[in-house]
Amino acid sequence: SDPVLRVQDLAVQFVSQTGNLLQRRERILRAVDGISFDLEPGETLGIVGESGSGKSTLARAILGLIKPCRGRVLWRGEDLTKLEREALREKRKDIQIVFQDPVASLNPRMTAGAIIAEPLWTFYPQMERLQVEERARGMMKLVGLLPNQINRYPHEFSGGQCQRIGIARSLVLNPRLLICDEPVSALDVSIQAQIINLLRDLQKKLGLALIFIAHDLSVVRHISDRVMVMYMGRSMELSEKHALYRKPLHPYTSALMKSVPVPDPELARKLRQELWLKDDTPSPFDPPRGCVFHTRCPYVVRRCKVDVPPLRRLESGDWAACHRAEELDLTV
Ligand code: SF4
Ligand code: MG
Repeated sequence: SDPVLRVQDLAVQFVSQTGNLLQRRERILRAVDGISFDLEPGETLGIVGESGSGKSTLARAILGLIKPCRGRVLWRGEDLTKLEREALREKRKDIQIVFQDPVASLNPRMTAGAIIAEPLWTFYPQMERLQVEERARGMMKLVGLLPNQINRYPHEFSGGQCQRIGIARSLVLNPRLLICDEPVSALDVSIQAQIINLLRDLQKKLGLALIFIAHDLSVVRHISDRVMVMYMGRSMELSEKHALYRKPLHPYTSALMKSVPVPDPELARKLRQELWLKDDTPSPFDPPRGCVFHTRCPYVVRRCKVDVPPLRRLESGDWAACHRAEELDLTV
């Protein structure tokens, strides 16, 4: 089938001024630098990378909240980056987002029902009050909340329940694509699986396409069909889920996999360093030449410091941006 979403060579840059009155300098940050992928209807793409790798900026650019400096976002064949505000707003019905911090993203002075119904009032102002309330109750039930709690305020719910309210709000307009930007990062580990399972069930039931962003590979493992790994605004690997967890194609994916969460942060830091970290993340204002990962890569060769490895399709059908992808065996 045709992809619902096609992202082509998308790039976003931020310009910041530094220096003093006499000597002004412009610094350019390429937050997203040439990202491409397709998303099939009903498919889940996991996007993983460390903080600052450009995941949220990519999500915002897809939603039209940030103007890209290059590239296209084709939604059912129509380029969203070319649309005027009104037309783009209309598309928002189709593409919704779930935010990272459920408590902070809910208005504390609104009831659960009012929060969930808000998009309905915005898009269908003439809708009957009773009908709106009915719909809000239905949404609460759908996400595993008690409909009779419709008049409660966010502080009367737990963090996990607040995220369920956030999910209900994002689904109330019947979108076709849901972008979840680290939807479980702010939640207790014990609650994370519940929310991930809920999203997976909803995705199946409603036939949604889903983009699920996380900073940890283990979080997206069960929900994703394919996984894209980002580093410094670029895509390092884009692989079918089972292939990626069995035999990553890119040294950075392999490194992320080894940096499994360890309860003791000091030990985790040491382990990470011993395992693979040769260097800290380079400054995003001054990315390394050649392969952006070369300052941290254990497999670096001379060529890596000179030539940029393009994201290319390998024999397996999966994609990697590494000169040595064929010759390295990174089997887990
Ligand atoms: Fe490592 Fe070179 Fe591959 Fe970059 S291109 S990931 S530096 S081996
Ligand atoms: Mg983020």
